[in-house]
Amino acid sequence: MTTIDWHAKAAALKIDGRALIDGQRVWALDEATFESVSPVDGRKLADVARCQAADVDRAVLSARAAFEDRRWAGMAPRERKRILIRFADLVMENREELALLETLDMGKPISASMSTDAPATANTLRWYGEAIDKVYDEIAPTADDTLALITREPIGVVAAVVPWNYPLLMASWKIAPALAAGNSVILKPSEKSPLTALRLGELALAAGIPPGVLNVVPGFGPEAGSPLALHMDVDCIAFTGSTGVGKKIRVMAGQSNLKRAWCELGGKSPNIVFADCHDLDRAIEAAAGSIFYNQGESCNAPSRLLVERSIRDEFVEKLKKYSPQYMPGDPLDPNTKMGALVDATQMQTVLGYIESGKKEGARLCCGGQQVRTETGGYYVSPTIFDQVTNDMTIASEEIFGPVLSIITFDTQEEAIRIANATNYGLAAAVWTRDISRAHRVARALRAGTVHVNSYDEDDITVPFGGFKQSGNGRDKSLHALEKYTELKTTWIRLA
Ligand code: NAD
Repeated sequence: MTTIDWHAKAAALKIDGRALIDGQRVWALDEATFESVSPVDGRKLADVARCQAADVDRAVLSARAAFEDRRWAGMAPRERKRILIRFADLVMENREELALLETLDMGKPISASMSTDAPATANTLRWYGEAIDKVYDEIAPTADDTLALITREPIGVVAAVVPWNYPLLMASWKIAPALAAGNSVILKPSEKSPLTALRLGELALAAGIPPGVLNVVPGFGPEAGSPLALHMDVDCIAFTGSTGVGKKIRVMAGQSNLKRAWCELGGKSPNIVFADCHDLDRAIEAAAGSIFYNQGESCNAPSRLLVERSIRDEFVEKLKKYSPQYMPGDPLDPNTKMGALVDATQMQTVLGYIESGKKEGARLCCGGQQVRTETGGYYVSPTIFDQVTNDMTIASEEIFGPVLSIITFDTQEEAIRIANATNYGLAAAVWTRDISRAHRVARALRAGTVHVNSYDEDDITVPFGGFKQSGNGRDKSLHALEKYTELKTTWIRLA
């Protein structure tokens, strides 16, 4: 499809902004709505149901009823598998529409939505569907006259509260394992990007997931997210978002029914390049590609680049030459590599951090401005700061935009110390040809994922999540099933 085709398709889109509760598309009880605005051009896309506590109550009631009558939990795993795989197929069949909604709603390039977000969402649903009839329970090695069964059961009603940077994918990382395990789910998308979640809910119904098993309640964090976190009849909240809100979620879980609260949070990931890196060009490509991908709005983006002093000048020069290809373009142009930031607020936040970098003495090597102002959208040029120290605001706070901070180091110990001197611990990378150094540094880095001589490896088979204030629990892989199941021991006395 060409840019013109995508624009024509966008103009013809019919968007339904109603919530999905108990298998029905409904407006909020008080009929309140909010506008979904496209960061591509600042235009309104749709009115969306502004769900609040009363709507959350309806969704919880429906999810609880679905769980109690076991219309989903009671299905044989192979039956849930069949339906989840059908759900994945429907995502692929509707890939163009989902990708377009995603791009219009949050600004990422259509090439990324088409090649990554939509298919990876389908793959997540398919993978957990395929897994669920292959996971066995356990028998404990107890005495001869007893039998102890260790079984996993669904927790019950799971609330999934997700962010706007990968709306489809983050939703799928929660709902796929939660549904596969037999739970009922209430999905609350971000108010900044609610559209694909609503469509996903419809596709789930069409695939055969019974009404009430997956509800979607769009709305603002304090209005729709907090009532879920505080709800006495929600058994688990699976949250992805900022560290600040993650802390509140855990407090709310404690204030209410001590529901399980899983939080996948922010990051300030270090990418360490030693002078003995065997392929500097690839390191440069990965450093730029990973921070500018998704407009820098990735939790695991390597926003701190640590370069050994002896290669610093060469590295920075090459990186500067490489970055213009990420100059923002029309997100609906299939050749665009960087699109729009999610909204005006996020753009102002990013521009504010750029100003703070300049004020605190970092050297602006390139970028640093709003661009494409004529479009009415929210675009910032790829920005690189050199001569950054780890205590500067741009090196310590998560910017969530296309801003790279380069820090120079002299020794391996110093690199490790700087890399770990952060509240976060989501991801990290080390580039070296020395295998011992690679292992030693990887072991020393306090992060949930460490890449060696790469940054962008990814697969549904491996866990994703962070150390320290990057959160707790893990998404993806079979480990994620643990978040959505309770362990039960059943003792049987053998006469
Ligand atoms: P956010 O914390 O502002 O919002 C996330 C979700 O929480 C949204 O649905 C929002 O409506 C809701 N929310 C906000 N305030 C709330 C409240 N008081 N009570 C209940 N719910 C509330 O985060 P964001 O700006 O949407 O997303 C960006 C953040 O997400 C970044 O920090 C990023 O690193 C993080 N993130 C982490 C991962 C991961 O896997 N670790 C993945 C993607 C994004």
